[in-house]
Amino acid sequence: MPTLTEHARNELAALTEAGRMRQLRGSTVEGGYVIRNGKKLLNFAGNDYLGLSQHPSVRAAADTMAGATSSRLVLGEHSHYALLEKDLAAYHGQEAALVFSSGYTANLGVISALLEPADLILSDKLAHASMLDGARLSGAVLKRFRHNDLAHAEALLKEHRRTHRRCLLMTEAIFSMDGDAAPLSELAALAMRYDAWLLVDAAHALEPLPIVPDLLLGTLSKSFASLGGYVAASRPVIDLLIATARPLIFSTALPPGVVAAAHAALQVAKAEPERGARAWALARRLAAHLNLPMPAAAILPIPVGGNAEALRLAQALEERGFSVAAIRPPTVPPGTARLRVSINALHSESQIDALAEAIHAEQAALKDAR
Ligand SMILES: *Cc1c(COP(=O)(O)O)cnc(C)c1O
Repeated sequence: MPTLTEHARNELAALTEAGRMRQLRGSTVEGGYVIRNGKKLLNFAGNDYLGLSQHPSVRAAADTMAGATSSRLVLGEHSHYALLEKDLAAYHGQEAALVFSSGYTANLGVISALLEPADLILSDKLAHASMLDGARLSGAVLKRFRHNDLAHAEALLKEHRRTHRRCLLMTEAIFSMDGDAAPLSELAALAMRYDAWLLVDAAHALEPLPIVPDLLLGTLSKSFASLGGYVAASRPVIDLLIATARPLIFSTALPPGVVAAAHAALQVAKAEPERGARAWALARRLAAHLNLPMPAAAILPIPVGGNAEALRLAQALEERGFSVAAIRPPTVPPGTARLRVSINALHSESQIDALAEAIHAEQAALKDAR
């Protein structure tokens, strides 16, 4: 057996060979810009869709980052939690909500608390890693249907539903790496017809959903410019989760300033719904420039294919002053590496146009190099 350090070196070499190496790179976000290696880049990589991370009321609310020092069930239950949860529930048309330390742990906690090995989970193939990890942790049988393919979802329900006790159907409202929307009403009807519960992760949605699913998952870390995740559902479901969701019970509460900042961001989002509409309009503007399908929200994927090419394109854009994320497997399926442009309400039309021009030029250069 190799030593652990040798094992790590071997694995790193294999990841590098496959173009799957990941490294942490220091960045400072300042206003709409990212400072990296002393260079100021226009930020098209963060998920601050509503531009609220710079809002004065959000910044003022984050007055103390002192830690909560215990779980919510011990001493961590600061009064900001109740205010935030009441407003999150109302925002989504649900009875109650429950905040976790992140969207990732919200999905882990909710899915693993409600489903067991005798149960069935049906998931869209492109659903976020945190949903899949929650499904794995629950021990339930997991089947994945082709992306947004209702007929395939129904075929799997027909085949497997009867032999399982409970069933959860799960999807994202807006897909994080593709920017398209799920057919929510149709999925809700399917869940009803096959006696399944519906979970919708709305992390990238710019506004409340057109349906009220059994479980609405969300994050406070993107549009709400803070940190944390939440589930909104009926009161009894939330009470059950408080008593049984392990990431809530066995992890320390968020610092009060973090919860207050999310609450302040939610107030601005509700008072200024035009922010989401503007981010979406800018994303459509960029899509039109690049001849790409219209996105359903503020995320625009630019298909590339190869891992190395995606990295090279992102690097070239960085040299031109734009920070855009290169997304590679396993975040997306093999062979579908892409650039992922994230747009926010504070971008200007001319910044969008400049980005489109830079992408055009670099795509042409890449083609010439082939
Ligand atoms: C980002 C994301 C999460 C995780 O949320 P965090 O608060 O960042 O942990 C969960 N689901 C989806 C769809 C996401 O995009």
